[in-house]
This record gives sequence, C-alpha cells and structure tokens, in this order.
Amino acid sequence: MRLSTYPLVDAAEAAATVLEHTPVLGGEQLALSECAGRVLAADLMATSPLPPHPSSAVDGFAVRAADAGRTLRIVGESAAGRPLAARVDEGTAARILTGGVVPDGADTVVMVEDVQLHGDSVTVPKGLAPGTNFHAVGADLRQGERVLTAGMQLGAAEIGLAAALGRPRLEVHRRPKVALMSTGDELVEVGTEPGPGQIPDSNRWALLAALREAGAEVRLLGIAPDTAPELRDLVTDALHDADVLVTSGGVSVGTHDLVKPLLETIGTVHIGRVKLKPGKPFTFATIGGQASPAARGRAREGGGSLDQGRLAFGLPGFPVSSLVTFEVFVRPALRKMQGLAQLQRPSLPVRLAFNAKAVGDRTEYHRVTLRREGSDLVADSTGSQSSSRLMSLAGAHALVRVPPGDQGISAGTTVEALILALP
Ligand code: AMP
Ligand code: MG
Repeated sequence: MRLSTYPLVDAAEAAATVLEHTPVLGGEQLALSECAGRVLAADLMATSPLPPHPSSAVDGFAVRAADAGRTLRIVGESAAGRPLAARVDEGTAARILTGGVVPDGADTVVMVEDVQLHGDSVTVPKGLAPGTNFHAVGADLRQGERVLTAGMQLGAAEIGLAAALGRPRLEVHRRPKVALMSTGDELVEVGTEPGPGQIPDSNRWALLAALREAGAEVRLLGIAPDTAPELRDLVTDALHDADVLVTSGGVSVGTHDLVKPLLETIGTVHIGRVKLKPGKPFTFATIGGQASPAARGRAREGGGSLDQGRLAFGLPGFPVSSLVTFEVFVRPALRKMQGLAQLQRPSLPVRLAFNAKAVGDRTEYHRVTLRREGSDLVADSTGSQSSSRLMSLAGAHALVRVPPGDQGISAGTTVEALILALP
C-alpha cells in the first residue's frame, strides 16, 4: 500500500485555497425566459424613468387642484393605453381610468367615489391637494438610476424590472460545465442487480442533485473502473468541454485509488488531504493554468489537451464524505464561478441539545435537525455520524462545525450553524 505524501491541511485553509484557484466565468446574453436563478454580469441601469408617464392609480377624474369644490365640464376620457389628446384647463375635468395617462394641465386625480356626476359635468370636493392618486414620472425609478447590481441573483422581481424597462435580454454569468464521474470496480448502475461484492452507484445521483442545486450544467460520465489508462482516457476526454471535473471515490491510500496519481500527471494537486471529518482524502487540483512545465509535458505524452484553469475535485467515495466535501469545497467554488457575491450557506445561531464530541485534529461537520423552542433554534444530532451512513444527512437542516481538539461542544451551547433548510 502506498502511503499518502500529502500534508494534512486545515479545512478552512483548504477551502480558501480552492477559492483562490477558482475563476469567475464570463458573461452571456440570455433571454428573460432563461434568466431565473442566473447571476447578473453587468449592472442594469434605468434608460427611461418608471413610470414613463404620469399614471393614474384609481378610476376617477383628472383635474386641477385649484378647481376644488367647483363643477367642471368633462372634456373626454384617458384610459390605459388610450391617452387623451386634450388638455385639462381651468374649469374642466377628464374622466380617467387606472393606468391612464394624467392629461397635461391636470395636477391631481379625484376618485370616482368622491364626485357627483351630472351628465357631462362633475362636481369635485373641496380641499384637493396636487399630486394625489397618480404615480408621477420616475416615481418608481428615476432615469439613469442603477436598478440591479452585477452579482445579484435574478428572481421574479428582478426579471420583472428588466422587462418593465423594455430589456428582452440580460447579461448573465455562464453556468459552470461540470463533468461528473464515479470510480470503482464495485459499482453498478442503479437498477441493475448487484453481483457479489457490488453496490449501486449512489454518489452519482446524489452529486448530480447537489450540482444542479448549485447552478451547474452537468455532464454524466458514468462509472470509471479502477484501471489507470481507462480512467485517464475518460478524464482527458471529459476535460475538453468542462470547466470542472468532479469525481467520487479512488482518493484514499489503497492501491486501487488512482485519482490522485492521475491528477498529478495532468495537472497540479494543491490539496491531497484535509483535517476534516468526514472527508479527509478530499483532493483538489487545477488542470491547465497552474500546471508545471513537467506536468504539461506528461499530459501531452498522455494525449490530453489542456486548456486554462480547469478545476478538478476528487471527492472521497463514502456517500456522506462526498456530499459534505461538496458542501464545504465545491459548492462555494461553483457559486464564485457564477459571479455570486454570497458563496457560503447562510448561518444562524442554534442551541445544541446534545454533546458534540471533537475528533482529534479534524474539524467535524456534525449533521443536525432543527426545531423551534420559543425564539430559539434547537439542534438535535441525526445520530451516528458514520461517513457511510447517508441517513445522517437525509432530512438534516444544518451542519454544525465542531472544531478540532479534545473539548467538543457541550449541550446547551449556542453556536453558528450552516443552514441547509429551515424546519
Ligand atoms: P473509495 O474512496 O473509492 O475507497 O471508496 C470508499 C467507500 O465508498 C467504499 O466503500 C465504496 O464502495 C464507496 N463508494 C465509492 N464510490 C461510490 C459510489 N459512487 N456510490 C456509492 N458508494 C461509493
Ligand atoms: Mg474505490
């Protein structure tokens, strides 16, 4: 058995190293119908005011406030999309409908409920104030104002604003293209009856869901066997049109663990082991941009063509280890690539209802469910934190970081937890 030569890196330091090597992807013009969830790549400025014309907020009469208390001659109607050509001068009024343009000369709108109608004239109440019951030009947005800032994620209201300003497309960051591969001779396709010693490839589907949630476009590469040449062919082929390679399995120190040696050949391995539980064998490499000349030479001999700055994440094979290292290292990187300003999960103070033991020199991400007790959030452990036990993550609401040492965190202590979902 080959012993790993990689230094054990502190988990927070490893996360920072990953982000240092992570590029922000370029932009593309996208139709509004495709923009939900994407991240704006350029500020959106108001090229026109909103509303673009004085727009009535009610059904009623557009008048001059100075004519309060008088009976006025009705000169016509202004409906939404059908403005009145005539002016409202002293002694006159225009019938107006919600969304109708307030005609020139009028400075206020009186609600239909507040007037008395007599054929083609109308009596308006005393004490009218100018500027009432209509939205003035630019009341919602002034021309030249910054409407949306680069780095914002686009949701319903943001897309609505762009449409209201007449913009059919927006400049958004490209989504990262991720090639996803499982490794291991023991794996079979889900739905195929496993033979002796075989198990279904479950990581592929768990990681596919996690990648999509994080905004990636995923290409599934299937299962790579534990043989070096086949693994190398699959990886070099995948890297032609991927920004990121994510593998699971094959990164521990067993003789069949081929991912680290392969990444050493085609790129630069920056992290080979982390002080993290679960997820100690987590591996991170860059392919292309940061590669040493020697590595480039080896890659050429191996037939691989290298572009600039591809990222490769070798996640451990145990199901919980692969998902926790995805959370800690891969998800923030994918968010950075998409131009998001907020890379981490939100955190909230939670009170532990259990004693969280520390695990020597490693940071543990303890999986918890949350419940409300008055205004507090209380965290219960999901039980055995074994790295093979996916039930420790299924239904979990949060991750509690237990620092290394021999202290642990005792029940009753309030700590910041990374929120996956609220109860
Ligand atoms: P490895 O890191 O390849 O030594 O794998 C560690 C453990 O995770 C082994 O018990 C594997 O069977 C399991 N494992 C690896 N890949 C997968 C996968 N794609 N789906 C489910 N379990 C896996
Ligand atoms: Mg394996």
